[in-house]
Amino acid sequence: MTMRPIRRLPDHLVNQIAAGEVVERPASALKELLENSLDAGADKITVDLAQGGIKLIRVTDNGGGIAADDLPLALDRHATSKIASLDELEQVGTLGFRGEGLASIASVSRLTLISRQEDAAHAHQILAIDGRLHPVEPAAHAPGTSVEAVDLYFNTPARRKFLKSDNTEYAHCAAVFERIALARPDVEFLLRHNGKVVWRLPQGSRAERVAALLGQDFIQASLPLEHVAGPLQLTGFIADPTYSKASRDAQYFYVNGRFVREKTAQHALRQAYRDVLHHERHPAYVLFLTMDPAAVDVNVHPTKIEVRFRESQAVHQFLFHSLNKTLSGSAGNRADATHE
Ligand code: ADP
Ligand code: MG
Repeated sequence: MTMRPIRRLPDHLVNQIAAGEVVERPASALKELLENSLDAGADKITVDLAQGGIKLIRVTDNGGGIAADDLPLALDRHATSKIASLDELEQVGTLGFRGEGLASIASVSRLTLISRQEDAAHAHQILAIDGRLHPVEPAAHAPGTSVEAVDLYFNTPARRKFLKSDNTEYAHCAAVFERIALARPDVEFLLRHNGKVVWRLPQGSRAERVAALLGQDFIQASLPLEHVAGPLQLTGFIADPTYSKASRDAQYFYVNGRFVREKTAQHALRQAYRDVLHHERHPAYVLFLTMDPAAVDVNVHPTKIEVRFRESQAVHQFLFHSLNKTLSGSAGNRADATHE
């Protein structure tokens, strides 16, 4: 068989291929947009979804905004304001840094990016249709940024076929929204789906945010926890073994503010509950691990849901002992609670 000559793929196609990894479904696009808003320092974020996010995802924030001249660059692949060197990558403190979120979303949707920096006289917008950029134009917008992605995967029918029903895609979007909102009680969030308000979350304490999202019964059945060992810090809430659900729904584990799934950590948490929990039930927790960013590699996968600890044994021990201590003290707390 005669092979065709080797050719460099056009940028547009490169982006669409990458989009398969970064924005597998509407919920992954929503995650990229929410993370951008948080990285921009927003303390108020509004999300509008239509038809499970397939028809529309719009995220509006009051963050720092993007300069008019930078708008095309924001949609460019591998263009980022968040890191500039390997050194910075190794201790990255922002949620994003790969510079492919917006480029990926733009390549599989009709995207409008509107932004205004605080000191600008007005906003500017740029449209990307099927990944192709239109000229920057003046627009109206309060300081901050709005990104609107319409008709996801309209130009990649193969991917579109993999999407599930609106309801299922919406459920994934809601899960992403809830994970992020749980971690940031200092930010006001609003979520609407098909025009109806689903979540209206005012700024508040961590306990208030957890109660709003997971229910007052979760907080009431939970033990607050705070442990420090050297550079490792763990805070959050773990449910009393009597609360535990039969599903894994209520397991939220964050590293430096990022929701992650990490085997070592999951194992340590399960072990800590082993003696107090019936084996068919699952623990419920919202836990925030804070550590030196250089001691954790977040650049394992484009979606960054996987991380690697440099010293996973130390992390395992710390998590296990922290939970163990709190859980073994819980018998007394429960007894108190019965007198209320
Ligand atoms: P990354 O987040 O990895 O840098 P993105 O493609 O998601 O890559 O975004 C590219 C750049 O566009 C960001 O580095 C940032 O400078 C800018 N940007 C994107 N979204 C926002 C936003 N909501 N507010 C301010 N700047 C933004
Ligand atoms: Mg990003």
